[in-house]
This record gives sequence, structure tokens and C-alpha cells, in this order.
Amino acid sequence: MSRPALSIVIPFLNEEKVLPLLRARLEKMQAAIPDVELLFVSDGSSDGSCAIVNDWAERDPRVKLIALTRNFGHQSAVSAGLSFATGEVVGVMDADLQDEPEILLEMFRLLQSEQLDVVYAVRTRRHGEPVKRLFYFLFYRLFLYLADSPVQLDSGDFCVMSRRAVTLLLALPEKLRFIRGLRAWLGLPAKAFPIARPARAAGDPQYSLGRLVKLAGSGLTSFSTRPLRLGFIFGTLLCLGAVIGAMIYLGFALFSDTRLAAPGFSTLVIILLFFNGLVFLYLGLLGEYIGQIFMEVKGRPSFLVERTVNLPPDRSSHERD
Ligand code: UDP
Ligand code: MG
Repeated sequence: MSRPALSIVIPFLNEEKVLPLLRARLEKMQAAIPDVELLFVSDGSSDGSCAIVNDWAERDPRVKLIALTRNFGHQSAVSAGLSFATGEVVGVMDADLQDEPEILLEMFRLLQSEQLDVVYAVRTRRHGEPVKRLFYFLFYRLFLYLADSPVQLDSGDFCVMSRRAVTLLLALPEKLRFIRGLRAWLGLPAKAFPIARPARAAGDPQYSLGRLVKLAGSGLTSFSTRPLRLGFIFGTLLCLGAVIGAMIYLGFALFSDTRLAAPGFSTLVIILLFFNGLVFLYLGLLGEYIGQIFMEVKGRPSFLVERTVNLPPDRSSHERD
């Protein structure tokens, strides 16, 4: 089977308002690359969006639908799409037109002309709530500081990847997938593509701040063990400080008449509280890592496919595992 030049993975969750707009933009793209494969992944949509894609797929064999059994989360939906994609180059974009098809086409051309493995969009300007924007900004700086492997700063999942990159990505055994992290981890020739991210074309964001925090947490813990090490270093320093302090007190008690011990009861309580807090904080952090290990050890697939349209049922490499 000959591969199409480009596959585009588009995960969506209840996007019936925006899909008709997306379709118009993608039809223009189909004119530019006639054999483009469009893989729509329904991440447990419960509105009319599946029907819209279904209808389009019935008329156009290049349009494919993968419906997951329930909502597995955006990252899993992207993984599902990647595992079904057959293109020489595979693009990933959101359905809400915040990732523009025209830009994907430009990234595709850049990847081809410079023979890169990854071209990823980097946001120079971000629309949306200031809290979310600040959160993203801080997250990427923290990630850069903590991560043990390369980081693609301010990048999202919007990218194009070569077949080689996709194959390597899919072969990674982990179930908790933080795609933008894994993509950088591969270490293949990559280039950033600066874009100004527009606002959503229609409908409401599906990612709440809480879910973003969760994604950030799992992203950080799956790419860095530095927080664990920080706890160890901090704990060691505290213990050393305590020993030195004890020696000073002992010295004064033995060799001087000065009385150092003041009756600072409240100070003691505050210090106790603070350090107990730290202990709990680190227990929580350990818990995060153990949680990740637990999820991985169970070895459940990161998504389940309920049905597909215009696709052979066994094409997902994940399902065959
Ligand atoms: N999405 C998804 N599963 C989810 C949440 C979101 O497939 O559980 C899709 C959503 O339909 C959209 C994309 O992922 O196409 C990005 O979501 P959203 O626009 O809500 O996120 P934001 O752009 O605010 O980061
Ligand atoms: Mg969006």
C-alpha cells in the first residue's frame, strides 16, 4: 500500500459548533494535497460531532473516523490517531481552529524541504484567559528547569512529524503519554515554527484549568526525577543545619554562661508546622511518582476504539499489542 504524503490527526470532544468551519478550511487543504488523510478521533463525544464527521467520511474516503469508547483525554486521543495514521508525514492539530490548517501546510513544506523529523509550532502570542496564559508560561519554565531531557519551549501538540518520528514515538512503551515531551525526548532533527495562536473559532474550551494542572503534573513527573532529588538534598541540608545548631547550643551550654534558650513556644509551633508541611509535601510528591508507576504497571492501553469509519479495524498498532 502506498502511503499518502500527509496524514492529519484531529482529536475532538464535542465540537459540533466548530466542525463545519473546520471542514471548509480542510477542503481547501485537500485541494493542495489531494491524497491527504484526515483522521478524526472522537474522544468520547456525546453531541452531534461524530455524525458530522461520519457524514463527511461517507462521501470522502480520505476522511476517517476513529471513535473511542469514552473520553480518554486529549493526549490519548492523539496517540490513537497516530497509531492509525499511514502518511509519510503526520500532522497533529486541534479541531477548534486554534491550530490553523494553513500553518500545518507550511510546517509540512518546511519539514520536507529541510528534511527534518519534527516541525512544531511555538506560540509567540497566546489568546485566552490571563490565568491560563500565566500558567502555561510558568509551566514551561519549570519544565525546562526540571526536565532531564530536551524541552521544546512553549510548544503544544500542534506539529508535523516524519514517519520515522511517528514509528519511534509509537514504539515507546509508556501508557501515560505527554506527547510534546516525548517528541522532544526522541532527539531527532526538529525545528520550531513561530505562530500567533488565534482564539477558538466556536464552542467552549474542553480543557479546564484543573485538567491543565493535571496534565502539567503528569508531564513533569514523567520527564524528571529532579523533584525527588531536590527533596533528598533539602532534607540533607536541614539535617546538617540541625546538627550544627545542636553543636552551637551544646558549646554555649558547656563553655559559656550565656543562656540561649528563649521560651519561644509559638516559634516552635510554627517551625514544627512548617517542617511537617514539608514532609507531607514530599510525601505527596512521592505519591505522584508512585501513582505514575502504578498506572504504568497496570499496562492498560491508553485508549480503546469503539468503531472506525473508512479504516481497516486492525490498523492500530496499540490494539495489536
Ligand atoms: N479534546 C479532546 N479530549 C479532551 C479534551 C479536549 O479530544 O478530553 C480536544 C478538543 O476537542 C480540541 C482539542 O482537544 O480539539 C483541544 O482542546 P481545547 O480547545 O479545549 O484546549 P485548549 O485549546 O484550551 O488548550
Ligand atoms: Mg483550543
